[in-house]
Amino acid sequence: MPQVSVETIESVGERTVAIELRTPEGFDADPGQFVLVRATVDGSEEQRSSGNRSETGGVEETGYYTISSPDVEETLEITVEAAAEGTLAPWLAERSPGDTVEIEGPFGDVRYTGDGPVVVLAEGPGIGPAVGIAERAQRAGHDATVVFWGESPPHQERLDALEDEGGTVLLVGSLDEAADMLAGVEDETVYVFGFESFVRDAKTVAEAVGVDDLQTESFGAR
Ligand SMILES: Cc1cc2nc3c(=O)[nH]c(=O)nc-3n(C[C@H](O)[C@H](O)[C@H](O)COP(=O)(O)OP(=O)(O)OC[C@H]3O[C@@H](n4cnc5c(N)ncnc54)[C@H](O)[C@@H]3O)c2cc1C
Repeated sequence: MPQVSVETIESVGERTVAIELRTPEGFDADPGQFVLVRATVDGSEEQRSSGNRSETGGVEETGYYTISSPDVEETLEITVEAAAEGTLAPWLAERSPGDTVEIEGPFGDVRYTGDGPVVVLAEGPGIGPAVGIAERAQRAGHDATVVFWGESPPHQERLDALEDEGGTVLLVGSLDEAADMLAGVEDETVYVFGFESFVRDAKTVAEAVGVDDLQTESFGAR
């Protein structure tokens, strides 16, 4: 599997980094799709609840991370939220430019190819693909709305730029606050990115206002 170099890594919010990786030869993908990251993470066995110990004493860990750049030409970006109790994500957040990581993919059928207006509902690191998809939509001349569940989204600068270009960014304390906007959806494709309970809540709120055709990617339980 390709080893790719870290080009840049920057903090984009609380416990959240954006990692720009050199795109491997022949790799093509759209925002919304994800890659598998595989790495040997150092650390004592007691701290590690999962993974296989390697001959060098590290533990091999894998995790899925969703593409958060509008395209993958030359580089691709992933946005990683690292909880203190996590394993791979905190290790990724400590990488530096020039380090390498192994990726496989792309995976996933949920993707945006630049076709038509979009509404993207996101929580936590789901803001990554939300921003990547919205940027791709604007580039193609389409409207983009991002709804983030929470008060301080990562990628604030890119969200500001989306608004400057005529996009809409809604920060909500409850997804019910997005119900009116969703009720007005016509030809927009509606995406949802976040952990399991968020995706479930988003489906409930959207279906209640007649939006049944959602493109959802669950990041799993936490
Ligand atoms: C299809 C798909 C796409 C994904 N895309 C992304 C993405 O773009 N960005 C991203 O950051 N993650 C994404 N994830 C989640 C990611 O793959 C990992 O699950 C996550 O980074 C935690 O991995 P870890 O090895 O650090 O923690 P683990 O070792 O898996 O978890 C250790 C413990 O910490 C808890 N924990 C871990 N992270 C958190 C957290 N953030 N908040 C609260 N508790 C936590 C776990 O519940 C567990 O108890 C995606 C998952 C899937 C399935």
